[in-house]
Amino acid sequence: MTQPTIKVNDDELEYEVARRRTFAIISHPDAGKTTLTEKLLLYAGAVELAGSVRARKNQHHATADWMEMEQQRGISITTAALQFDCRGYRINLLDTPGHQDFSEDTYRTLMVTDSAVMVLDSAKGIEPQTRKLFQVCRLRRTPILTFINKLDRPGREPLALLDEIEQELGIGSVPMNWPIGNGPSFKGVYDLAKQQVLLFERTHHGQHRAPVQVHDLYDPQLAILVGQDEYQQLVDEIELLAAAGSSFSEEAFLTGNITPVFFGSAINNFGLEPFLQTLLDLAPAPGPRMSSDGLIEPTSPGFTGQIFKIQANMDPQHRDRVAFLRVCSGRFEKDMQLYHSRLKRKVRITRAYRFFAREREIVEEAYPGDVVGLANPGLFNIGDTLCDGKVIRFEDIPRFTPEHFCLLHNRHIAKYKQFNKGIEQLEEEGATQVLYFTDSLRKEPVLAAVGELQFDVVVARLNSEYGVDVSTERLPFTCARWVECNLEKLSDIIWPSRSKLARDREGRLVALFSSDWEVNFCLEKNPGLILKELG
Ligand code: GDP
Repeated sequence: MTQPTIKVNDDELEYEVARRRTFAIISHPDAGKTTLTEKLLLYAGAVELAGSVRARKNQHHATADWMEMEQQRGISITTAALQFDCRGYRINLLDTPGHQDFSEDTYRTLMVTDSAVMVLDSAKGIEPQTRKLFQVCRLRRTPILTFINKLDRPGREPLALLDEIEQELGIGSVPMNWPIGNGPSFKGVYDLAKQQVLLFERTHHGQHRAPVQVHDLYDPQLAILVGQDEYQQLVDEIELLAAAGSSFSEEAFLTGNITPVFFGSAINNFGLEPFLQTLLDLAPAPGPRMSSDGLIEPTSPGFTGQIFKIQANMDPQHRDRVAFLRVCSGRFEKDMQLYHSRLKRKVRITRAYRFFAREREIVEEAYPGDVVGLANPGLFNIGDTLCDGKVIRFEDIPRFTPEHFCLLHNRHIAKYKQFNKGIEQLEEEGATQVLYFTDSLRKEPVLAAVGELQFDVVVARLNSEYGVDVSTERLPFTCARWVECNLEKLSDIIWPSRSKLARDREGRLVALFSSDWEVNFCLEKNPGLILKELG
């Protein structure tokens, strides 16, 4: 087989990279992430897609049970990317499940995003899941824009919200617009840079009035437009902000030191247009990524990409596994032969897809920032690098220590083959790990997960996708540690009485503990023993 010759015109690559915007939306469940996504699609002109986002939440005809579970719980379990064009930009919106039990998937997605939008509920401020996801973005210094939602409802004081962002998250917050009134008296927002007022109108269909140009804060027209009391409050607050000296700096935003903050109401389409425009203006194009060979620039001509998510049975009819690849540099073309850095051999990429909700489309070409789904006959793991030309490896995508454990009982022993295949393929997706106790009393696999809802997902999916009936038995452990010590010393180790030893799929020794106290006890009793949080 001959390798297709790929001619990448430098200008073309540069142009394609410059117009890519790859971002994820993060929030605590119910803050309005789905609504904001839908409205961004609407404003971007990708109207026909708007319904499909909502459909994922409310779908009544999902074929697989676990998809049904997804709608019942009103959460989204799968993470995929939506691609659409807007005003000359090509946007890749990475979908991140909001529920904390699915956070591993979200964390990995955040490893391959170029920027993030953080949605807050104006009445609730920073919630636990927002904090966790923010911290993951912080690790990579990902630029973050903040959208404070639900301004149409009574919420916290805007200054208190800005202060909470700074205090709780440790990032400077710079308002880009300022709300006039609050809840029932909410009148609209004042755009601080453009000195424009955007008036809010409560209508059934969530329309809003066009912006009204005013010349400055002290323009007498403003008091007439918004009412004397609200006007006075606005002036006082803006003067307070000015005294505090916070102003927007693009550099501080791009290095993750400040977040520009917008106030609005996604459900009412209020404040969406200026937010989308600023997002397009400010969100960075794909940047360089760290590899074994130093930073790889997106415009370097050799193709590189990294697998960040694996999903079995995307399409229940085809029963295939899909590995999601983020293109990091160069140009991706259908039928490419690429070097697989972990397997140390070339693989031909024959089937590459782009997904819209449940539809798929063949990808002919893709550029840095794009996400491509590759048919995965067991070839790929999360974190794998594919490249063309110089051999490199991207930094690993971190895993997270499991905190929930259960035994998995196969109720129909005759179906052991399907059972084993199912748990192996679901483990490959990275949301659960399979362990086996070293004492041979219990032969059943132990499932380990970061979130316990994963167990319900595994049970439902094993049933609907592999035809096996299983039950779970919760185990009392709360943490797992990978054991590093000389074999001869192993028998001398003093373990806490309630801990148990197991092996993972690669045969590595894992100790299961019921508390952090037990871990510390074990370390104190056994000098020289190394217990690692991850395998
Ligand atoms: P997600 O869980 O973060 O994806 O949140 P959703 O987008 O599903 O929104 C959660 C709830 O908040 C839904 O009932 C929405 O209709 C509602 N919601 C979203 N945006 C707004 C808003 O601007 N104002 C009000 N009052 N409700 C909103």
